[in-house]
Amino acid sequence: MFRIETEKELLSAFRSRDRKHVELPRGTRLPLFVRDYLAWVDPYGVRVFLVFTAPGSTRLTGITFRRDQQADKSLPTRVCDWCLSPGGGDQIGLLTTDVDAKRRVGVNLCLDLRCQEKLESAMNLAGRDLVDATQRVLERMSRFASEALGMEVRSET
Ligand SMILES: [Zn+2]
Repeated sequence: MFRIETEKELLSAFRSRDRKHVELPRGTRLPLFVRDYLAWVDPYGVRVFLVFTAPGSTRLTGITFRRDQQADKSLPTRVCDWCLSPGGGDQIGLLTTDVDAKRRVGVNLCLDLRCQEKLESAMNLAGRDLVDATQRVLERMSRFASEALGMEVRSET
């Protein structure tokens, strides 16, 4: 659980190359209380934003993804790299983000990043522990941010 006090604080979670695209969902009221992570899609359905804290960290990390480069939608099912939920091409697909001016990386993810909701129903059905599953998703998010994007996800000391 974390709290975002101001828009400035929210924006500072993103890299400067991502920051200019960030648009809060209409009607967002601050401060925001976030249970696990915050994800939303821009009004055009092109960009997906993610804000989270790495497990054990208080530092906000934000990533802007694009979903305009969809692979073959006819592929029957695929699996989200973060929550491991299966779904069709309308639910799970390639989200990409800039590493730097020259490189982009992509991951197969739930296109709306509603991993948490999917986990919740899957864990309820299986009677498994949602907290552990959520931690694993946050760890995968953190690993992506630090290893693929070179972002600092741990708390400042
Ligand atoms: Zn997912």
